[in-house]
Amino acid sequence: MKKYVYFFGKGRAEGKAEMKALLGGKGANLAEMTNIGLPVPAGFTISTEVCTHYYKNKQSYPKSLTNEVKAALKKVESSMGRKFGDAKNPLLVSVRSGARASMPGMMDTILNLGMNDVVAEGLIRKTGNERFVYDSYRRFVQMYGDVVLGLKPVHKDEIDPFEVLIEAKKRERGVHLDTELNAEDMKDLVGRFKAAIKSKTGHGFPEDPLKQLWGAIGAVFGSWMNDRAIAYRKMYDIPEWWGTAVNVQSMVFGNMGESSGTGVAFTRDAATGEDKFYGEYLMNAQGEDVVAGIRTPLPIATLAEQNPSLYKQLDKIRTTLEKHYRDMMDIEFTIQEGKLYMLQCRVGKRTAFAAIKIAVDMTGEKLISDKEALARIEPDQLNQLLRPVFDLKEKEAVVKSGRLLAKGLNAGPGAATGRVVFNAPDAEAWKKRGEQIILTRIETSPEDIKGMDAAEGILTARGGMTSHAALVARQMGKVCVAGCAELEIDYSSHTMKVRGKTIREGDWISLDGTTGEVLEGKVPTRPSEVLRVLVDKTLDPKDAPVYQQYAKIMSWADKYRRLKIRTNADQPDQSKNAVAFGAEGIGLCRTEHMFFGEGKIGPMREMILADTVQERKAALAKLLPLQRKDFEGIFEAMNGRPVTIRTIDPPLHEFVPHEEPAQRQLAKQMGISYEKVHQRVESLHEFNPMLGFRGCRLGIIFPEITEMQSRAIFEAAAEVQARGIKVEPEVMIPLVGNVKELEDQAAIVRRVADEVMKEKGTKFKYLVGTMIEVPRGAITADEIARVAEFFSFGTNDLTQTTLGVSRDDAARFLIPYVEKEIYPKDPFEVLDRVGVGSLMKLAIEKGRGVRPDLKVGICGEHGGEPSSVEFCHQINQNYVSCSPFRVPIARLAAARAALADAPARDGRAAKKRNKKKSPARKPARRR
Ligand code: PEP
Ligand code: MG
Repeated sequence: MKKYVYFFGKGRAEGKAEMKALLGGKGANLAEMTNIGLPVPAGFTISTEVCTHYYKNKQSYPKSLTNEVKAALKKVESSMGRKFGDAKNPLLVSVRSGARASMPGMMDTILNLGMNDVVAEGLIRKTGNERFVYDSYRRFVQMYGDVVLGLKPVHKDEIDPFEVLIEAKKRERGVHLDTELNAEDMKDLVGRFKAAIKSKTGHGFPEDPLKQLWGAIGAVFGSWMNDRAIAYRKMYDIPEWWGTAVNVQSMVFGNMGESSGTGVAFTRDAATGEDKFYGEYLMNAQGEDVVAGIRTPLPIATLAEQNPSLYKQLDKIRTTLEKHYRDMMDIEFTIQEGKLYMLQCRVGKRTAFAAIKIAVDMTGEKLISDKEALARIEPDQLNQLLRPVFDLKEKEAVVKSGRLLAKGLNAGPGAATGRVVFNAPDAEAWKKRGEQIILTRIETSPEDIKGMDAAEGILTARGGMTSHAALVARQMGKVCVAGCAELEIDYSSHTMKVRGKTIREGDWISLDGTTGEVLEGKVPTRPSEVLRVLVDKTLDPKDAPVYQQYAKIMSWADKYRRLKIRTNADQPDQSKNAVAFGAEGIGLCRTEHMFFGEGKIGPMREMILADTVQERKAALAKLLPLQRKDFEGIFEAMNGRPVTIRTIDPPLHEFVPHEEPAQRQLAKQMGISYEKVHQRVESLHEFNPMLGFRGCRLGIIFPEITEMQSRAIFEAAAEVQARGIKVEPEVMIPLVGNVKELEDQAAIVRRVADEVMKEKGTKFKYLVGTMIEVPRGAITADEIARVAEFFSFGTNDLTQTTLGVSRDDAARFLIPYVEKEIYPKDPFEVLDRVGVGSLMKLAIEKGRGVRPDLKVGICGEHGGEPSSVEFCHQINQNYVSCSPFRVPIARLAAARAALADAPARDGRAAKKRNKKKSPARKPARRR
């Protein structure tokens, strides 16, 4: 017969820590603590399988449950030497939920169960403490009324009927605090509570303890489906089918006088990770008093003075728990008349700083291995080590004072504060004057690059996680809140309206790019220690403990990862930052970003507006030395590491002005009529520019552009090589869907390479490859790989073209799509493994089928997102490329993917070896 109830008590438990799926976190850990000899009040856990049964069978229980509960209750009675419902020596119990993952406060709890008038009298005789007994009684009736009998307020403006009665009582007695009510008052309240229950429900309060117990069990299972629990599960991806367990445990009382108390603690500091006991307690109080904020709890260190022997016992338990669980634990304890009891323990929640410190420290203490340390740090947590952050207290105060303006997408993590400006030229000008600014735009375009560079942070009203603003901000390491739809930006009046407020140019705002919050006013920030060591070089590593932890984690990650990590960068300073973060090459240099640099946009526009090939070539000749210089800078910064340079990609209209004044100015500069400029810009208009004249199509129609770019790349390579620096250029052709497109462009690149080598009398190595970013490219990857020496997945476009969803216009329906679970996550943020991922796998299979040593990477924004990096590892790519500030995240994600993969691989290999009885094979070649 299936077992549904698991007993724990008197140093022996039927469950253990590994049984979380069946017993829930609380139940499994109560069992484990009992087994390792800690003082746990006896009790039993009703398994999560009963919850599943309950919902599958019209809210009914398995037949054998009644007897199992009865038997377990008997064991509890004998362990505690008390009897449930007994008039002389009564046992009271708590009934609590406990799911596999902790869901704090989402489900229901009932304390002091088993109380009735007879039991109360018995308890008074036993304890001699009438007030304590009637206080416990009224708390029980109140909780039971709320949770089991449904008197809990539902709407936010409803008042708890029991609180109304308590307030009335206090008024009658002329007192302010609950603690000022005496035993008689409490007794009277019990009567009034019961009367209220009768009048609201039509039924009397159940006096039979067993009836109370089953009522409470049903209510706890029922609370698995309350709105709060459902919402919480959705938020944290907890599946409904897990169900909750129910824990029934003997009550111990912290409110039996000054030798009793209750507390919560962490075995280390949950905010900083420091190895010190961290918690709070209250004497003469019950559990909820500590968190309710009615009385101020004392720090745990005070207990060492108040009651040294108890503190010593608790501190010993702290060590026992850490040694046993090999992690930082969160505990709840109660002291009943000088005796200590453990009521809960679980792995403690912590900040990113604490997570990293604890993982590194515990490795030093030999509690865990370096592999386990890596598994305990979520890659995204590294963000907190790199970014400036707000002082948490200051930020909380701002939010509390009603200055949270809006929430958008957390597109570029970190904290920034500055004065609002609404266009890029103003951003540059203000910055030059020494101002700190936040560039605020409806959306950004390549034209805004310099303004973005000048800004501390970027705020947009439109666009998703791969919008121009988001990806450029991440590449630059800027704080960015994107797609903040509540903002009504009016460029003409230089103002924006949000939640009834008007923010004008020059007003201070602050962005939390880690949470997506936009705050009114100036919130102070703190610089990151890691950045000061690695990038600014203003701090000595030995004075930087956080940096030291970071460096340790990175060195462990590098030891275990197989994927190489590159970066998306198109400026020498970005490249240098990326190298400082551990980048091993550039995976995407978007050359078009360079065209907005000093002196380049003029000739670029001349080239676009040219009427003849000659005119175009003349403009390109002006661009050549400028591009060459850019590439030299990048090759130098990368110092021998491979650099993938992509030929021009965006539609040409992005390079020309669209407003009349700017067009008139351009006409003047070029010495042509405004009408001509206007008419040429109009002729560039496309209904679907992303599917229009862009990518390799530009270089095919205007081969002289590819020719100029190739020449700039190879002349720079020759020049830098002549200075004794190794170069490894890889020229990448975008948006290829047909091998003939690549053949056309590769022929130009190779011809120019030959020409430059001949002219310079030198030789250099280079590769020609392609982006795989349209489905036809992936499907015909075998044909393409005959020409391409490498593939790089442009998953921004590949997601756009595979899903048929515009990366720039999807914000309106993407959030509801994710809410409705049509998409599990934003596919532009987390790779769609099933759809886009299948195309990637196919492309690798087909590509390596014809070119086994084909190098494969990814340079879409997914290259820095942990779950996508894991997928890239699984499909055997060679590298991922991401923005500089995501390089550490990608390093850790790649190591975790390799470690997660290793046991499976070892297991498979071992099985095969055993079967064939052949010697171990060499590991697969590292590509
Ligand atoms: C991509 O499409 O994934 C890519 C890297 O190119 P871009 O974002 O510049 O279109
Ligand atoms: Mg692309």
